Amino acid sequence: MQLHNTLSGQKEEFVPLDPQRVTMYVCGPTVYSYAHIGNARPAVVFDVLARVLRRRYPQVDYVRNITDIDDKINAAAAKEGVDIRVITDRFAKIYFEDMAALGVLPADHTPRVTEHLPAIIDMIQRLIASGHAYEAQGHVMFETLSFDGYGRLSKRDEQALMAGARIEVAPYKKHAGDFVLWKPSADDQPGWDSPWGRGRPGWHIECSAMAEALLGETIDIHGGGIDLVFPHHENEIAQSTCSHGGKVFARYWMHNGFLNVDSQKMSKSIGNVLLVHELLKTVPGEAIRLVLLTGHYRQPVDWTDEVVSEARKKLDRLYGALRDLGDVAPADGVTAPAAFVAALEDDLNTPMALAELFELARRANKATDPVEKAQLKAQMLDAGLLLGLLQQAPEDWFAWAPQVDGDRPDAGEIEALLAQRADARANKQWAESDRIRDDLKARGVLVEDSKDGQRWRYA
Ligand code: AMP
Ligand code: ZN
Repeated sequence: MQLHNTLSGQKEEFVPLDPQRVTMYVCGPTVYSYAHIGNARPAVVFDVLARVLRRRYPQVDYVRNITDIDDKINAAAAKEGVDIRVITDRFAKIYFEDMAALGVLPADHTPRVTEHLPAIIDMIQRLIASGHAYEAQGHVMFETLSFDGYGRLSKRDEQALMAGARIEVAPYKKHAGDFVLWKPSADDQPGWDSPWGRGRPGWHIECSAMAEALLGETIDIHGGGIDLVFPHHENEIAQSTCSHGGKVFARYWMHNGFLNVDSQKMSKSIGNVLLVHELLKTVPGEAIRLVLLTGHYRQPVDWTDEVVSEARKKLDRLYGALRDLGDVAPADGVTAPAAFVAALEDDLNTPMALAELFELARRANKATDPVEKAQLKAQMLDAGLLLGLLQQAPEDWFAWAPQVDGDRPDAGEIEALLAQRADARANKQWAESDRIRDDLKARGVLVEDSKDGQRWRYA
C-alpha cells in the first residue's frame, strides 16, 4: 500500500510498525457549533482509509478526538449562560449524527480533552523537566528553539517561522515562535487545577497527550486537513518528540486538501459557509459523500450545485444497476475486484476506484448470464462497502425525500397522478402525459419512463 507522506513530500510504501495493530490519529472537530462541509472532508477521507486498512490488517486503532476545551466554546457557553458541557454535548451529538448521515463509521476511540487533563498535565511536566518548556506568568510555553526538527513538516525555516509568529509577541514568550501549552483561566472562565495554577491547556498539547494515552509514543498515521500542517501538527511533533526522548511521533502524515464553495474559500464574511446539518435537508448524505470522494483527497474540491446534482445522477446509475439486479443473490465470497482495491491502496485513488465501480455497473446493466450477474452484484456491493457507498436498499435511495416546505406532493398523490398519466399515455394523449410530468417536475418530482413503467424520485 502506498501513502503520500507530507513529511517526505512523496508517496511511500506503507509499512506499519506492528503489522498486527495499525495506529491512526486524526484531529477531530472543535464542538462549539455545527460542522461545515469542509470539516466533513477529513472525516470522510480518513473513514475510507480506515476501511481500507481494516481490510488489510487484523487490527486498526483509529482515534478521532473531540476538542471540548476551546475559547470559542467558552464564548458560546457564556453567550447562552450555560456550562461548556451543554454546548459541547449538544454539538458533539450533532456532529456524530451528521457524520453518520455521510456514512462515516465511528472511530475506535473518541477521546475528549476534558477526560485527559491528567495526561496533558503530565506531558507538560515532562517537557518542563527536559528543558523544552518554561513557565512564565501563569503560562507554560514550548520553547521551539529547543527542538532541532522544528519546521520539518511544514518545510519552514526558522526565519519564516519567526516571521509568522511575530504579529504579536506576548510578554511571557522568550521567542516569538514559542507556543502555549497551558494558560491561566480567569475566575469566570472554565479552568482546571494544575501545578501552574488554575487554567486550561493550549490546543496543540491535547492531541499529543491523547495520541500517547491511546496509541503509544509512536503512531503509524496522523491525519487532518492541510490547514493543520502549521502550526498545529508542527507543534504536535515538537511536543511528542521532546516528551518521548526524541522518538518519532507519527511515521506517515496525511493531509486532505481544502473544500471550496463556488471556487471561493468558505467564510462567514462571504456568507457561503455550508453546514452539513442544513445540507442534509436538501441533499442525500450519500451524494454529499460521493462529492467528497470524486476527486483525489489531496486535491481541492469545489462544491457547486452542479457537482451535487452530478453525484446524485451517478448514484442513480449505480443504484439503478443494483435495482435491476434486485432478484439476484450476490455471489458468495466474491469481493471487490483487485483493480478497485489497488486503486484505493495507491494513496486512496478514489477517482480511479470510482471508475472501476462504474465499469462494474455498466457490465451489470448488460449482463444476461445469472452467474455473471451474481458476481457483479457481489463486487459492486463490496466495492461500495470500502468506499462507504451503496449500503442501502435501492428502493430507499430512490425514495429519499428532501425536507422542504410548500407544495411537495406525497407518494400517494404522486402515484395517483402517475396512474392518470399512464391512462393518458394508453389513450395516446401525449400532451396530457407531458403536462402531468412537467407539473410534477415543477413541484420537485422527477418522472422517468423505463421499460418497467414510470419511475419517480424527488429532485
Ligand atoms: P476544526 O474543527 O476547525 O479544527 O476543523 C476540523 C477539521 O476540518 C480539520 O482537520 C480541518 O483541517 C478540516 N477543515 C476545516 N475546514 C476545511 C475545508 N474548508 N476543507 C477541508 N478541510 C477542512
Ligand atoms: Zn490535533
